[in-house]
Amino acid sequence: MSQMELLHKALVLNPDPFVLLTVLITFVSTIYFWYFHKSPRRSLEIGTLTKTKIVPLSVNFHFTRKCNYECGFCFHTAKSSYLAPLEDVKRGLSKLADKGMKKLNLSGGEPFLYPDHVGEIVKFCKETLSLESVSIVSNGSKIKKGFFEKYGAFLDILAISVDSFDEDTNVKIGRGKGNHLKQLGNISKWCREHNVKFKLNSVINKYNHEEDFSQNIQLLEPFRWKCFQVLQVDTENKGEGAKRDCSRFLISDEDFDKFCRRHRHLDSFVPESNLMMKSSYIILDEKLQFLNKGDVYGESKSILEVDDIEELLARTDYEPETFEERGGIYDWTKSSCGEDANLKW
Ligand code: SF4
Repeated sequence: MSQMELLHKALVLNPDPFVLLTVLITFVSTIYFWYFHKSPRRSLEIGTLTKTKIVPLSVNFHFTRKCNYECGFCFHTAKSSYLAPLEDVKRGLSKLADKGMKKLNLSGGEPFLYPDHVGEIVKFCKETLSLESVSIVSNGSKIKKGFFEKYGAFLDILAISVDSFDEDTNVKIGRGKGNHLKQLGNISKWCREHNVKFKLNSVINKYNHEEDFSQNIQLLEPFRWKCFQVLQVDTENKGEGAKRDCSRFLISDEDFDKFCRRHRHLDSFVPESNLMMKSSYIILDEKLQFLNKGDVYGESKSILEVDDIEELLARTDYEPETFEERGGIYDWTKSSCGEDANLKW
């Protein structure tokens, strides 16, 4: 007998409230299980191709693994020195734009080890692909004013990593050799002069979770200050073959929560726990392969070799719902900060 028949029979023939309630609960849980566990997206994992489309709305392209820093918790380490030729990058990004990409974030490694390469990608994304938003995440150490003069008009957001306002702590973490902070003020100024939104990223870990960043964040006035709980990723900073062991940096969820409570009064503060990070990012590596960094690490074929990008994406852990839940869609275009260099974001 089907669930519908059972429900109908219970409603019409059996007025006992307890029986009615039991039947209703069974009915609701069946619908829930069917919807969440038998949905087409899940069946892809056992090899059945379906019509489900996942739009690559916002993509993080880690186009290089090389870096001049040695952060102990780094989860995108220098396992390869490959840099895809610009023509391949343009072809791959065009494919993603055709499938609905609206925002591209360029990351590494350190993107500014290749200033013209990253600049040309940014320019192509704005001029040719007309993306809504193009951003870069950098440690800041290699950024020069000339970059803004040449490419600033095409860049929406520049995010700089800062894990502490105490240089000794930065050195312990591996962020530079005691000279990380002096660039921050310059970069925030250049961003304002060139109408680029200034953002800060921090990894909250054993060495900084008790620090109070409030005063310095208020001085620097980023439009967004994103704080990530340090994350273990297999083969990157954990386990066999990894170039880093981040175990000495780990903090509990409770420690992260305390840090968040200390800073939640700041308008720009955007916390991101380990739970939120997993499955909420589309990550493309230097060979233009999708990367899983959730519970199961792995890469797809390169999007340069495959036409059905959505099918590749559907086989990763990426969950559009989690992306939206963590606030992945926000005011990401530079147009909202206007032409006024004194404007506060
Ligand atoms: S700056 Fe970024 S890419 Fe470089 S070592 Fe540190 S975390 Fe890794």
